[in-house]
Amino acid sequence: MTEKGSRQATDLLARLQARIAADGPIPLDAYMAACLTDPAHGYYLSADPFGRGGDFVTAPEVSQLFGEIVGAWCAHMWEAIGRPAPVPLIELGPGRGTLMADMLRAARALPAFAEAIEVHLVEASPKLRAVQAASLAPLGAAPLWHDDLDAIPPGPCLVVANEFFDALPIRQHVRRAGTWRERAVGLDDAGTLCWTEIAPRQTTAELDAAFPDVAEGTIVETSPARTEMARQIARRLAQAPGVALIIDYGYAGPIAGDSFQAVRRHAYADPLKAPGEADLTAHVDFAALAESARKAGAAAFGPLPQGMFLEQLGIALRADRLAAARPDKRAELEAGLSRLVSPDQMGSLFKCLALASLGLPAPPPFAAGNAAR
Ligand code: SAH
Repeated sequence: MTEKGSRQATDLLARLQARIAADGPIPLDAYMAACLTDPAHGYYLSADPFGRGGDFVTAPEVSQLFGEIVGAWCAHMWEAIGRPAPVPLIELGPGRGTLMADMLRAARALPAFAEAIEVHLVEASPKLRAVQAASLAPLGAAPLWHDDLDAIPPGPCLVVANEFFDALPIRQHVRRAGTWRERAVGLDDAGTLCWTEIAPRQTTAELDAAFPDVAEGTIVETSPARTEMARQIARRLAQAPGVALIIDYGYAGPIAGDSFQAVRRHAYADPLKAPGEADLTAHVDFAALAESARKAGAAAFGPLPQGMFLEQLGIALRADRLAAARPDKRAELEAGLSRLVSPDQMGSLFKCLALASLGLPAPPPFAAGNAAR
């Protein structure tokens, strides 16, 4: 921990303690939002969490193969939506800009598409915006940054989000004496942050319908922030032709269980210790995103396991071609490929969900019969 890091964490901790002392326990979603995106001391706003030196490694940071396949998918979908030009290529939560850089390189295989792309980045962190600018400058891209998706004018678009939804806050509820309590962060007698339970903001009927027959003490998760984001994407797709690709780790729920976790320097940590210093995430309920998108007038396909998505789009062939051109890189390419697609690594926990304007053919490799329930 750097001195600066520890001071920042202490500041956020002191502010959270004061807030709880004054107003009572903070629901988990508000705690998660404060830890991740507090303007002064949030994790994403004060740290560069990616890569080997950071807290976690994402798929685009594992291998360029990931962004190249997603870029080729976007090129294909651009043709499917009628080759609009210009076309906003929107990325939600672009991290270091690596995925966008690899997508833009892959887009050059279809020059008319490369020409048409306007890069739009939705990013909360000024620090990461600067990293993204530096990653994209060599490609001649002139990205436009936005605080949220709704700031981008409606029209045809391609949207990509990798490991963005898992960072949006979740709520947790726990079954108590035949009803529900909401999990929140309070203070114990010593003034230390601790778990507590408050009256839920969601109705019993709503929670009962989503999670029937749940045993006493079971924790369940919902995320109005995530379903609202899926709704915003879908609304755009209902207004003009477009597609979105959402990649994250998660499940096609709803299922019961606690997936909230803190990761710091590649190891699990206590989410209530050192707020602002650890990455806080929870698994994504893809069925909830698909349902929200469908209600807002878009089609939803998947989720498919990431390994299947990438393999069916030809990632192994792409790795072979690159390795033939750069034999010195073969081992690195093969290691990256294996990490992205192997079921015991990122291949099966990570999943891909496609959203599309109604009436478009199923985006590859999603079969029409593969539409999410
Ligand atoms: N897609 C990147 C980074 C994933 S980490 C990759 O795959 O490597 C999550 C990203 O979302 C970071 O860039 C973070 O700053 C951004 N982010 C998190 N919450 C956000 C929010 N509420 N609004 C905008 N950006 C957010």
